[in-house]
Amino acid sequence: MNAEIIAVGSELLLGQIANTNAQFLSKQMAELGINVYFHTVVGDNPSRLRRAIEVAQTRANLIIFTGGLGPTKDDLTKETIADLLNCKLMIDEEALQSIRAYFARTKRTMTENNIKQALVLEGAEVLKNDNGMAPGMALTIDEITYMLLPGPPKEMKPMFLNYGRPFLMRKLGRHERIESRVLRFFGIGESQLETEIEDLIDRQSNPTIAPLAGDGEVTLRLTAKHHSVSEAQKMLDEIEKTILERAGDYFYGYNEGTIFSKTMEQLIARNVTIASAESLTGGLFAQQLTAIPGASQTVKGGIVCYTNEIKQRLLHVSEAILKTDGAVSESCAKALAENVRTLFQTDIGISFTGVAGPGLQEGKPVGTVYIGIAISNGPTEVFSLSLAGSRESIRMRTAKYGCYYLLK
Ligand code: ATP
Ligand code: MG
Repeated sequence: MNAEIIAVGSELLLGQIANTNAQFLSKQMAELGINVYFHTVVGDNPSRLRRAIEVAQTRANLIIFTGGLGPTKDDLTKETIADLLNCKLMIDEEALQSIRAYFARTKRTMTENNIKQALVLEGAEVLKNDNGMAPGMALTIDEITYMLLPGPPKEMKPMFLNYGRPFLMRKLGRHERIESRVLRFFGIGESQLETEIEDLIDRQSNPTIAPLAGDGEVTLRLTAKHHSVSEAQKMLDEIEKTILERAGDYFYGYNEGTIFSKTMEQLIARNVTIASAESLTGGLFAQQLTAIPGASQTVKGGIVCYTNEIKQRLLHVSEAILKTDGAVSESCAKALAENVRTLFQTDIGISFTGVAGPGLQEGKPVGTVYIGIAISNGPTEVFSLSLAGSRESIRMRTAKYGCYYLLK
């Protein structure tokens, strides 16, 4: 296949915007092994567009158009092609429905020219627009394939990747393999992670990167397409390496599983036992770990030490600590972690103390958290956090932070 890319739009000729669509599509063609011999830019003018197509027909058997699929008077790409190819324009019911749904959703009134957006060339395969209204289309007539894509890159790129590219793959008789991998992060917000890898997300071609966030965790789903599985895996390895160079500190595992199951796996692999002293989290940490089969290999038990009395009587936190520093303090977290470890005779003791809210405690603000980790062969570490959010979210994230520090 030899391709020509025709970008339609007077703004391109006026220098108001750069033709990034042609660049994106050319990269895509290179990946598919399709030669691109010409880039053409033409204004929103039917007779000049017609001439550009006539020239392209003499030198390409794949002509990709971007722009001019919209509802306004100057959007004339499909009309011009229909005219030249002697091809009818028909309403595509599915596209019309999704345009109607869009207007209903946004409570706007639909006008006549919006219906025009649902017109497609007769016999064309419709390429769905998941990010806008005008559908794209692809059809082959007299051994030349025409693919029409919208102008806005936010609509054009996903349409090409999800529908245009598979169309071309079928045309080329190739089967594409889709390989994906999930990277899991904790301790970094979605927006911060996105900022770190913004340029990679923006490239969004192949592999693609899809972020998803919830409860303090962020996952990235990487998806690569290639006709060879091992090549697809290699592409994933490469992008993963780049991502981890930037955000590796927050990475904790792959694919399925949670930060709790990853922690369990690692504790079992290290052949160590653990006990917890939980004030703030009220047993949430132990509950999450013991929900996983096989927990008894590493979790010996724990104490919910919600009141100062229990902290003192069962976990031997000194009165001096509770009086001077308070229950929400570094020294209390340290004593709890060390003493629960001794009491349960485990390799690791972990403690959670803090203010879940809604009110202050000991004059300390909501979200003040201390997590102590005592081990048999080194000094006890205490991590302090100040978390925002609801009571539930602070408690859950605290339990997850416990895992995060154990994994470090
Ligand atoms: P719409 O429904 O938004 O009118 P359309 O398919 O009719 O979409 P155009 O009207 O040609 O597309 O262009 C809409 C916008 O898309 C332009 O203002 C520009 O921001 C962007 N755009 C168009 N063509 C290109 C291009 N070749 N490269 C980069 N951006 C483009
Ligand atoms: Mg337009």
